[in-house]
Amino acid sequence: MEIKQTNQGKNQTVINNESGVVNIGNVQRYVDLQVPESRHDLKQISSEFQGKFIVGFVLSIAVPTLGLFADLLAIHPVFDLPFWVYVGVFSVVFIAIVSVYFDNYKIFNSDVPDAPSFSHLHNDRLVSRTENGYVVFTYSCGCIYPNCQGVIKISEPPERYNGNYHLFAKCNVGGEQHSYGLDCNLVAYPVHIDWRVREPGKNS
Ligand SMILES: [Zn+2]
Repeated sequence: MEIKQTNQGKNQTVINNESGVVNIGNVQRYVDLQVPESRHDLKQISSEFQGKFIVGFVLSIAVPTLGLFADLLAIHPVFDLPFWVYVGVFSVVFIAIVSVYFDNYKIFNSDVPDAPSFSHLHNDRLVSRTENGYVVFTYSCGCIYPNCQGVIKISEPPERYNGNYHLFAKCNVGGEQHSYGLDCNLVAYPVHIDWRVREPGKNS
């Protein structure tokens, strides 16, 4: 009997038996991200510091707003500046605070679970509540796409792709070509993901 089937590529087991050549071992490849050596702690934020951030953030909004209202109502001309100055100063202060303290701002806006549970903060960052405050960390390890030397990094979720994954990741070398879906145990599976951004006003 002549066998014409060929077997190429890695991760294939070839068995020769009486009926010919059979491919087995085509199991889905994956990598477990949630192992201690893949965890990288990025930042500890104390409850005290987060409290100070919230006070500062609220004041940065409240002070110009109160000044504006006072001027508009002409109760008492606190600053008595043109309207656009308020808008300008307010925007600059707001953007500066949010960009410098973006992690704090995101924590302020999200419900952070106690460690070892965690939630996705932004980009590759995850966050857990600890005894003294918060820990910001990430998981990353080597990309498992063939011949790639890149590193898997957790990413923002895609806008269109509706595959049922807990989190998503990309490789820092292959980018969107080397996409992963992460399940609830942070096991990363190579998957093809539609990363196109949604056009405003359209649902698909
Ligand atoms: Zn890669």
